[in-house]
Amino acid sequence: MVAVQSWGRLEAPQHDTQSLSDRAQVPAQLAAASAARPGLAYGLGRSYGDVCLNPGGLLWQTAALDHYLAFDDTTGILHCEAGVSLRDIQRLCVPRGWSLPVVPGTQFVTVGGAIANDVHGKNHHVAGSFGDHLRRFTLVRTDGSVRECAPGEPMFAATVGGLGLTGVIVDAELQLKRVPGPWLTVETLPYRDLHEFFELADASEAGWEHTVSWIDCLHREGRGIFMRANPADAADVDRAPPAPRAERRVPLVPPVSLVNRLSLRPFNALYYASKGRRATSVQHYESFHHPLDALMDWNRIYGPRGFYQYQCVLPFATGRDGIRSLLDAIAAAGMGSFLAVLKTFGQRASVGMLSFATPGVTLALDFPNEGERTLKLFASLDAIVREGGGRLYPAKDARMPRELFEAGYPRLAEFLPHRDPGISSAMSRRLMGR
Ligand SMILES: Cc1cc2nc3c(=O)[nH]c(=O)nc-3n(C[C@H](O)[C@H](O)[C@H](O)COP(=O)(O)OP(=O)(O)OC[C@H]3O[C@@H](n4cnc5c(N)ncnc54)[C@H](O)[C@@H]3O)c2cc1C
Repeated sequence: MVAVQSWGRLEAPQHDTQSLSDRAQVPAQLAAASAARPGLAYGLGRSYGDVCLNPGGLLWQTAALDHYLAFDDTTGILHCEAGVSLRDIQRLCVPRGWSLPVVPGTQFVTVGGAIANDVHGKNHHVAGSFGDHLRRFTLVRTDGSVRECAPGEPMFAATVGGLGLTGVIVDAELQLKRVPGPWLTVETLPYRDLHEFFELADASEAGWEHTVSWIDCLHREGRGIFMRANPADAADVDRAPPAPRAERRVPLVPPVSLVNRLSLRPFNALYYASKGRRATSVQHYESFHHPLDALMDWNRIYGPRGFYQYQCVLPFATGRDGIRSLLDAIAAAGMGSFLAVLKTFGQRASVGMLSFATPGVTLALDFPNEGERTLKLFASLDAIVREGGGRLYPAKDARMPRELFEAGYPRLAEFLPHRDPGISSAMSRRLMGR
């Protein structure tokens, strides 16, 4: 047994692990192993909470399923194994004029993990989420059966956003999109309050492919920095900076969280002041989409107790008031971190039965783990989300109550019959009873 953590480092439960590296062997491996006890696929552990953990049980590590199977650079169709990381795909394909259509805030995510959480990026209003660009995938069940799944089929819709609970994905075929190169033209605009945020979001939806904002979680009016970007044209590339340099690393876990009440307020004020004027720049896609990837192991800054992320989405009808109430509660508690993101999702239904992204406004915030104090704040945030008809993101969650999950995911009953009985996770036991 070895200790395995997810990105939030809240706990380090013991697991048996088994590396999957030969996809022809996976059906037999799953059937043999899960006869004894349930297992769960584990990609790169970039989920924050317990969706990728199976304490006391088995984890099938998928990162060695890392082969490319085919790439057609006239159509942009890529066929690869499910353990290939999004970073490797981008570094291979962007220089050839093709990009993944949807990327989350970190590139250290496997294709299988991106499907299982149906991840979203900064371009949801244009491209939807990861599952919208899947042509097919191969799913292995723990009874040893192999299923080819394509859009329109129930097992496809159950597995996209299915939290790893329907089987192990061993390979997938993705439709990439054309890009002129690795550069983006980025506009940075400060906003003074939530009203200005929503105006900017509305005004940017038609003409900008990527939109996102940093929000000062301690500021009651909800000031922040709005960023919008489009692929850069050739004229801009001449004045582009060099590609990002090699990553740096947080070398150790400090004895206490470096993010705390003393550090947060001055950091937020300084950051807002430093970006206080409208500006245009040309940025490499890695800097724009994945700024945190430049600092490896940054999750250590929260100290030995780890941290939570709280990410919710509220429908547009309740979003304006709801986000204000959430910020009020967070500011009143004096908690949160400088990693706080506010953005809108487009009017587009996701393909997965349990996909998170849905039309509305999403707020994501990191919180150092301060035990009961943090959980008490979350209970008050949950009440606002429930009242506003919203939902929380399982990829980021370690503690949402079961009734909030059931209320937020109305297709849960449709999903449950598709579960693989040989698969279980800490999250599925917490939210689905097994
Ligand atoms: C800094 C940072 C920024 C992030 N930004 C975003 C963002 O902008 N948008 C967003 O949507 N998410 C974001 N995330 C979350 C991240 O994209 C997801 O948690 C993603 O699913 C992690 O992928 P992984 O390969 O690490 O999978 P893991 O975290 O290891 O596993 C996630 C789930 O996928 C399942 N799984 C993994 N591989 C397979 C497989 N082969 N077959 C079946 N199931 C499988 C696991 O069982 C588990 O349920 C961010 C995370 C970090 C750390």
